[in-house]
Amino acid sequence: MKTINKPTVSLDPGDTFTWPIITFEEEEAVLDVLRRGAMSAKDVTMQFEEEYARWQGNQYALGFNNGTSALQTAMWAAGIRAGDEIISQSVTYWATILPCLSLGATPVFAEIDPDTLTIDPNDIEHRITERTNAIVVQHNCGYPTDMDPIMVLAKKHDLKVIEDIAHAQGSLYKGRKVGTFGDVSGLSLMSQKSLVAGEGGMLTTDDKDIYERAIAWGHYTRFRDKIDSEALRPYRGLPLGGYKYRMHQLSAAVGRVQLKYYDERCREIRKAMNYFWDLMERVPGVKAHRPSKESNCTMGGWYNAMGLYRPEELDGLSVTAYVNALKDEGVVAGSGINRPLHRHPLFRTCDIYGHGKPTVIAFQDRKKVKVPSLPISEAVHGRCIHPPRFKKYNPEVIEQYAEAFKKVSNNYKELLKTDPGNPPDFGSW
Ligand SMILES: *Cc1c(COP(=O)(O)O)cnc(C)c1O
Repeated sequence: MKTINKPTVSLDPGDTFTWPIITFEEEEAVLDVLRRGAMSAKDVTMQFEEEYARWQGNQYALGFNNGTSALQTAMWAAGIRAGDEIISQSVTYWATILPCLSLGATPVFAEIDPDTLTIDPNDIEHRITERTNAIVVQHNCGYPTDMDPIMVLAKKHDLKVIEDIAHAQGSLYKGRKVGTFGDVSGLSLMSQKSLVAGEGGMLTTDDKDIYERAIAWGHYTRFRDKIDSEALRPYRGLPLGGYKYRMHQLSAAVGRVQLKYYDERCREIRKAMNYFWDLMERVPGVKAHRPSKESNCTMGGWYNAMGLYRPEELDGLSVTAYVNALKDEGVVAGSGINRPLHRHPLFRTCDIYGHGKPTVIAFQDRKKVKVPSLPISEAVHGRCIHPPRFKKYNPEVIEQYAEAFKKVSNNYKELLKTDPGNPPDFGSW
């Protein structure tokens, strides 16, 4: 018989989880654009670009209508062309790599590190061929990728590095902001990300040629006299990609205000999340997904905060049973992470453009798609748990949540008796 007891989490969380934080300042900024009828102009966007570039530490930033278009543009501007191969992690949001298909490139998937959930630098080099042109890194759930070995590899094999920093605006790798390591980076500003503009994206780079190519690809109104590149100048006026990727100025107006308060809000998020994980330090089964204090790495705005579920510390208790038990303690938690991409039919069989063979190998000599075996990526969904995503440092609330996790972990033997196991196909797509 199930004992009915009071859930551990009883306090009203108030604004602990509220995100994004929108105030009258965003409202005023948006109204100003509306009243001026400047929705499709570029003055506010260009101010935002300048402020963002300065904040991140890059020479150039270019606004986009979303992160997906920024990443596709980053790939083309970095020189990805038909037949090239790009190495990336399989466990990520799809826009990290999927846009390369529209360029005729072939994604090559690598493993993630089981503790950082970012690309495993030791699983890259053996995947490099003469067709490899770039590595795309994604600082998954805010955790900065181990960039040093990747930059060494890139130099050795003359590869471009593209950073997807959609989860990690402001995350530090060894004291330096992500997005400043690779040749070019793309990021999202959609309304759940840690830096928010509504729908929007940004491309950043220190390379003038990349910047100009990015303009040429999808910003025809800016592809004008200021373009210095001799290779691009003959085509001015029309977008080379055939795309129109301009950022909506209502978004740019929101983004500018959000950026102003971003560092301060991230500091508070980090304080709250670190407090939670400090309280969880000796709780079996659930480990923090964060770099060590000594590493001089940070989690930025801790977007999509993740916990590492370790069933072996709980005699194999499934994360599904764990999350169900948390519900009884008043914690609405989730499990899992995006499913690996390499096994999805889109990356195996789909002929999107009518090349008469799977798009992923449209411009390769091969007839068959090589589907790699990536055991860590394939099992990771059962090893991830969502911690509460605290946006405010309210210690009493945080303590109750940590207490609830502790209680479930301590009760694992009881839970094993009714463990339903994990469903065969959880995770999205
Ligand atoms: C959200 C996201 C994107 C795409 O950004 P949109 O603005 O939604 O197009 C790309 N990469 C990652 C890792 C993301 O999480």
